[in-house]
Amino acid sequence: QSLPAAERELVERRQRALGPAYRLFYELPVVVDHAKGVHIYDPEGNEYLDVYNNVPCVGHAHPHVNEAIARQLERVNTNTRYLQDGVVDYAERLLSTFPDELGNVMFTCTGSEANDLALRVARWVTGGTGVIVTANAYHGVTTAIAAISPSLGANVPLGSYVRTIPAPDALRIQAQGFDFDAYMADAVRAAIADLQRHGVKVAAFIADGAFASDGIHPNPVGWLHEAARLVREAGGLYIADEVQPGFGRLGDGWWGFARHGVVPDIVTMGKPMGNGIPIAAAVFRPDLLVDFGYRVRYFNTFGGNSVSIAAAGAVLDVIESEQLIANAASVGRQLLEGIRSLTASDEQVAEVRGSGLFIGVELVTDRESLNENPQLSAAIVNRLRERRVLISSSGPKANVLKVRPPMAFRSADADRLLSELDIVLGQLRSTGELH
Ligand code: PMP
Repeated sequence: QSLPAAERELVERRQRALGPAYRLFYELPVVVDHAKGVHIYDPEGNEYLDVYNNVPCVGHAHPHVNEAIARQLERVNTNTRYLQDGVVDYAERLLSTFPDELGNVMFTCTGSEANDLALRVARWVTGGTGVIVTANAYHGVTTAIAAISPSLGANVPLGSYVRTIPAPDALRIQAQGFDFDAYMADAVRAAIADLQRHGVKVAAFIADGAFASDGIHPNPVGWLHEAARLVREAGGLYIADEVQPGFGRLGDGWWGFARHGVVPDIVTMGKPMGNGIPIAAAVFRPDLLVDFGYRVRYFNTFGGNSVSIAAAGAVLDVIESEQLIANAASVGRQLLEGIRSLTASDEQVAEVRGSGLFIGVELVTDRESLNENPQLSAAIVNRLRERRVLISSSGPKANVLKVRPPMAFRSADADRLLSELDIVLGQLRSTGELH
């Protein structure tokens, strides 16, 4: 398959106009015309199964969300300096999904801005600057947040106040004979000690509860509880980055941190919050904002605007009315078990892991060495794309298949993914690429 001439021209114009920073998915890019539910359509009307996009969490172009947006656009779209009931209603409703300790919410437009605000508050409150993150963490695009995002690579230097702990990669940690919980706790202790050794006070430990860029490690659970305790003992805060796991994707409850039996000091969220309309937020323990709120001017022009709030409220309606959290749990289990049984005898599939509708399939050269195999993951991703099934890959070496569909992905959609994956795996076994 190759790209038709008209689309090749679009790629060239795109490159000329947008410059070199913009990347496209797949060897053969997907041209998107429209989308509905878990399906994306190209201009010829070909249908693709969306097994990747977490932003349209209730499904692309959901009528309830679209109507709420259209209605609010007709009425008013303005900022939080005017008194409106919508933003207050939504804030109360969102906060009701959190433990009682977390009682204030501030709105931003992106997850990066939410993390940036969380970090500013943590530094203000603790008087520290030090930040602990996982080895291949991604937390966003602002200058401050890029400096705590090691996944951006060597050309984006980390701050001198940043320390990394290993990814919670139980497969490799246990293969080396370590006790997982003790290993992670020791890593947090070492990071704190190293900051202190350099005269840096800890401001925060920030972690994505799905550990998406680290290779997808929502399990094992529990260790974040001890990590948070150690960080607090050193005077820092625990910031739960729920941009990936939040709003029920992991299938048991609204928020990923709860699975670890811990209550964070600050929680950030974004991506699925408005089903594609930009809205993100940071939720705080109210005492953290008392001084910051009065003494620091923070106004986010578009953060919490009337239309984004209407979209976010409608997203909550649909998650509840269509029981999408329970759906994430049951369809997620179906996918996990299905992929495990398809790959059980493949030496190059080291692990199929995940929670709810966030599943990673780790590909290696062999189960003994556990050496990463990004060629195989790229082959599977691109062959599935040829069959109009869209997934991606993740992890520091891009060797982990990333299966992260809209939360409206149903059992029949899972069946389709599994049968297409079965075909692709068969193709790769016949070429010897998979054995
Ligand atoms: N945190 C995590 C864990 C993310 O995955 C992302 C986005 N990929 C962000 C923060 C940043 O969010 P945004 O792109 O909305 O700024």
